[in-house]
Amino acid sequence: MKRLTGLDNQALFELYPNHWIHENSQAAVILLQQQAAKAGFDLRLASSYRSFAQQCKIWNEKFNGNRPVYDPHGRPVVMSKLNELEKIKAICYYSAIPGTSRHHWGTDIDVYDAAKITRQDLQLIPEEYQANGPCSALFDWMIKTLPTLEFSFPYLPPYSDTLKIANEPWHISHKPVASALAKQLTPTTWLSELNDVTAQIAGFNTLKVNLDSLFCDYVQQTV
Ligand SMILES: [Zn+2]
Repeated sequence: MKRLTGLDNQALFELYPNHWIHENSQAAVILLQQQAAKAGFDLRLASSYRSFAQQCKIWNEKFNGNRPVYDPHGRPVVMSKLNELEKIKAICYYSAIPGTSRHHWGTDIDVYDAAKITRQDLQLIPEEYQANGPCSALFDWMIKTLPTLEFSFPYLPPYSDTLKIANEPWHISHKPVASALAKQLTPTTWLSELNDVTAQIAGFNTLKVNLDSLFCDYVQQTV
């Protein structure tokens, strides 16, 4: 089985059209939506399971300069001026290395309040979840309620403190299933699961040479 890296979707269940959830997390997602509804929110999924192929496409387009890459201040990065390792680090601030996205597991979802903003208008930027943003009330409710529903925010402090990546207040994780998978995802398991597809990943040789430090900075979590 290759369920860590998005190459195996056998344990997934299609909860909504095109939204696949881990079979052991779907009940928790439904309960979360029910509790949110009671509190007056229409909590929906903007993103759920993502395959290796989908993540690899995003990665390769960014690496090759065919999709915009932004720095932590939101300014476009001129990728053609960077060497391969610099390109990798620039992409990693917002996008996961193929095979390392928590969206590969079906345990992690990006959520929003559909009573306040449409999926079409949603940009998944921090401002939408802060102050008077359309999802700020949902976010405040989630901060208080999620621990009781066994969900966590893997890309917010304290969990994101050791990673050099952007905060994502919309990204939540079903902890009982995800934390077991997170512990298994190491440079060794990543290389062995992706053995047959490494040629598809732009910059693979540079990734491989720097794998331990890249995992340390952008991937490894225990949450
Ligand atoms: Zn996400």
